[in-house]
Formats: sequence, C-alpha cells, structure tokens
Amino acid sequence: MTVWGFRRKRILGIDPSQPTDLDLDLREQVLKITWADGVVSRLPLPMLRKECPCATCRTEREERGRSLLPILKAAPAETIEATGGHLVGNYALQLEWSDGHNTGIYDFRLLRTLADAQPP
Ligand SMILES: [Zn+2]
Repeated sequence: MTVWGFRRKRILGIDPSQPTDLDLDLREQVLKITWADGVVSRLPLPMLRKECPCATCRTEREERGRSLLPILKAAPAETIEATGGHLVGNYALQLEWSDGHNTGIYDFRLLRTLADAQPP
C-alpha cells in the first residue's frame, strides 16, 4: 500500500485498526479479529479478562502492582469464562463473564494493542 493511499484512507476515516470481522468463540474462549489492514488476531479470552479496562479492575491491578508481596487470591482468574459479548457503538466490544462482571468495554484500539503484543 502506498503512503498516499494510507493517508487517503485515514482522511476518509478508515482506521487500519478497525476490525472487519469479529468472531467471539465461547467454546474455545478466544476472540478472533480480522483487521482492516488484513491482520488476523486470536486473543485468548482469559488474557482479555486480565486486561479488563474497567475502573474496578484497573484499580485492582494498580494495587497489586504497588504491593511488594505477592497476594494469593482465592479465585484464580483462569476459572472465569466469558459468557457473551456485544458491540458498543462502532468502536468497542463489551464482554460478559461467568462471575457476572460486564463493565469492561474493550475499544478496538486497545484490542489491536493487545493483539500486537501477543506472540505470533
Ligand atoms: Zn473489569
């Protein structure tokens, strides 16, 4: 793709980190995303739960990060499964979890950042 073409797409409002296809596979607990630039990502849902962007989870992660001693949690995150999800506007995905948590709204830019950080 030429630089000119890329710029033109940006001007028209087509973001390369915009998904063209989203597939939430609850059986395999994986989110498959095809991006506008052709990249295909597979995001494990337990990883997305650990990166939950809601205020409650962010505060929890920050407090854990500040603590010098490892905190043993009674309920490991691995046992929590995604039970559903839906699009929020045209910019984000909201996920629902088996423990009732559903305030995490994953905007596509965050999903793309997480996808790019995944090992291939
Ligand atoms: Zn959360």
